Amino acid sequence: MTKIEEFQALGLSDITIEAIREKGFETPSPIQALTIPALLRNDRDIIAQSQTGTGKTAAFGLPILEQIKREKSHPQALILVPTRELAIQVTEELISLNKKKVSIAAIYGGASLGEQLRRINKGIDIVVGTPGRILDHIRRETIDFSSLKWLVLDEADEMLNMGFIEDVEEIMAASNDYKRTMLFSATMPKRIISLSKKYMTDTEILKVESKQMTADLTDQIYFEVKESNKFDALTRIIDIEPEFYGIVFSRTKVGVDEIVSKLLERGYSAEGLHGDVSQAQREKILRKFKRKTINILVATDVAARGIDVNNLTHVINYSLPQDTESYVHRIGRTGRAGNQGTAITFISNSEFRQFSLMKKEVKTDIRKEKLPTAQDVIAMKRSKIKEDLNEIIGGEIIIENYVSMAKEILEEYPPELAMAALLKLAFKNDLEEDNYPEIRTFSVDRKGTARLFIAVGRVDGFTPAKLVEMLKRETDLNDSKIDDVRILDNFSFVTIPFIEAEEVTKKLNKLSKGGKPLVEIAKDRGASGGDRGDRGGERDRDRGSDRKGRRRESVKRVRKSK
Ligand code: ADP
Ligand code: MG
Repeated sequence: MTKIEEFQALGLSDITIEAIREKGFETPSPIQALTIPALLRNDRDIIAQSQTGTGKTAAFGLPILEQIKREKSHPQALILVPTRELAIQVTEELISLNKKKVSIAAIYGGASLGEQLRRINKGIDIVVGTPGRILDHIRRETIDFSSLKWLVLDEADEMLNMGFIEDVEEIMAASNDYKRTMLFSATMPKRIISLSKKYMTDTEILKVESKQMTADLTDQIYFEVKESNKFDALTRIIDIEPEFYGIVFSRTKVGVDEIVSKLLERGYSAEGLHGDVSQAQREKILRKFKRKTINILVATDVAARGIDVNNLTHVINYSLPQDTESYVHRIGRTGRAGNQGTAITFISNSEFRQFSLMKKEVKTDIRKEKLPTAQDVIAMKRSKIKEDLNEIIGGEIIIENYVSMAKEILEEYPPELAMAALLKLAFKNDLEEDNYPEIRTFSVDRKGTARLFIAVGRVDGFTPAKLVEMLKRETDLNDSKIDDVRILDNFSFVTIPFIEAEEVTKKLNKLSKGGKPLVEIAKDRGASGGDRGDRGGERDRDRGSDRKGRRRESVKRVRKSK
């Protein structure tokens, strides 16, 4: 059996096979091999589970396209997806397989209603839409789902995560009873199962068992790195990769903004996505990223939902995701559609425990590696320069204009010296080791850490360096034990090994003669399993204090007692 015959064997007819051939698919993916025959065989509802990037769109799209009639009247199929990017992407995938020329339209929020109404009135066979906008049309009675034959809930887990569950339920309840419902998802949280029990009948469950939760093509590694060294670690990883094209995940909005502004400062082309970025801005950024006008996207988990880019070289977990599912989603963005990718996770002291649990759950090997050294980065940059030179000298680029100037220079200086000076001019300090901040080798403290709250801050003249100096002077702590120093207006936070926390607290509180303590253990982060978002929390607390003065009050009380 030739490979394309495997599609035929699933029950697809010639016209669909032709579409597949033109699209260039060679063999059905495992989830397609399960769902296509099932969807052609009978009318049972299905639940299909398979990892991200395994071809779920064609898994429901091909059987629908096979069976649907070109009517251009009321929609026969409705595909619900969580975001408008996904709506566009699913629509494009379906159109690329649409030999029968049925009418396919995307209907999502943010787009003009009038435009959509005109489109609906012209007649649509397949609607791909986001729950909110579809519900809008249902409530306004501007769209008629009474002839619906197929309802697909695509990326059901994401729709649930994004809080669309009520909308989805309402849509399921509003459409006719004899439609066939198909639920597709990368993961199967309990709430999806209960949703299916409520609204689906005679359900067949089709699941591609993956021994590993994560894509095979993704190489997963982690670095143990101090919170304060994460940014430099990030730039080394970007620098060492000749064609870096990746998403950097941060847990908070503030984190995203910080990373982006530091990257821009150092001359990288990056943009950030988080909840405060407007939809228009978001689309602009995503277009730039897809066109590779920028090669670094920094995002929170929520903002990254629905982004579909196939050829990322890297996903970087600058801070640990909330849970294993988010980890799987994050790294599922590399290693797609046959491309190799690398997923890198930074682990600081406070993230170690949570990471260990996660590592067990993902069931794939996440290797520990050492960060590239400054020498590695420089060697990389040198060879890149040589390659570029080679390309210019051997290639089409016109350099004649420069030759006469080169002659002039060479008349005055020896060639090595002239070249060296030009390199310096072109690459500044890029090839000098001193230009690279030192990142000391660091191993996470496997016994856990504690986060100290210290009632002094910027207004008391403290900087991170000053606080570290004070800690070293007044306690037995050394640099390697002090991490993630955060100075806010009225107070500060610092992470130290859990076993030292009590002793350090005692010592520091002796400084605040009597009264309220200067230092408190904010949280045993080792035992509580990571800094779930509390960096953002710290920031918000600081901002809140500036705005409302309420927090400032209570902190002042602590400080007065010094
Ligand atoms: P999922 O929804 O499971 O995340 P998609 O449907 O978005 O996956 O498909 C991911 C990519 O794989 C798309 O670019 C799609 O065109 C491609 N693809 C799907 N099925 C096949 C196949 N049988 N052979 C090759 N590529 C495929
Ligand atoms: Mg999908």
